[in-house]
Amino acid sequence: PPLDELIASIAVDVPDFPEPGVVFRDLTPVFADAGAFRRVVDGLAAPVLTDPRVAALRTGDGDPGFDVVVGVEARGFLLAAAVALAAGTGVVPVRKAGKLPRERISAEYALEYGTATLELHTDSLTAGQRVLVVDDVLATGGTLEAAVGLVERLGAVVSAVAVVVELPALGGRQKLAPHSVHALWTT
Ligand code: 5GP
Repeated sequence: PPLDELIASIAVDVPDFPEPGVVFRDLTPVFADAGAFRRVVDGLAAPVLTDPRVAALRTGDGDPGFDVVVGVEARGFLLAAAVALAAGTGVVPVRKAGKLPRERISAEYALEYGTATLELHTDSLTAGQRVLVVDDVLATGGTLEAAVGLVERLGAVVSAVAVVVELPALGGRQKLAPHSVHALWTT
């Protein structure tokens, strides 16, 4: 089946998680399925190759258009490491507050109730480095906006943002503009 249908058929909708009224798309069964995981990992990097915004950043046919993959804790880690290995790049974690041991920068962002903080090691990216930012779900976009902001504060260049699932009603794509957002399943 097409990849969006495959993901939709394996993902599990969990009503009232993490709180009443929210339907949580649980992707862990997608990652646990060998064939689906392979297609998801390949699918996250593939659209970057044809992204017109990335074309100007690419140096040739063998260049994926990014030098490193940034993954957002925690489900983004599962994806970012696999995408990086497949593309032949390294992987860098954006972590929740208090986890990174060395000099770091922080970004606070709004959650539905309260705030959260993401952090990035100051020396984990270099100026001009091209970054593919990966997470599992794009909802309101607050999380990825914070992650993108951290990457850019280090002078690195966001090639694109790639997610497995986009919930378009929540407007995350608009929040991340002008960056390209590639989603494998929009629902
Ligand atoms: P946002 O900041 O875009 O509102 O939320 C995105 C973050 O919350 C992501 O890190 C994502 O893992 C998590 N998230 C929000 N909604 C869902 C959901 O329905 N399913 C999953 N798996 N994660 C979600």
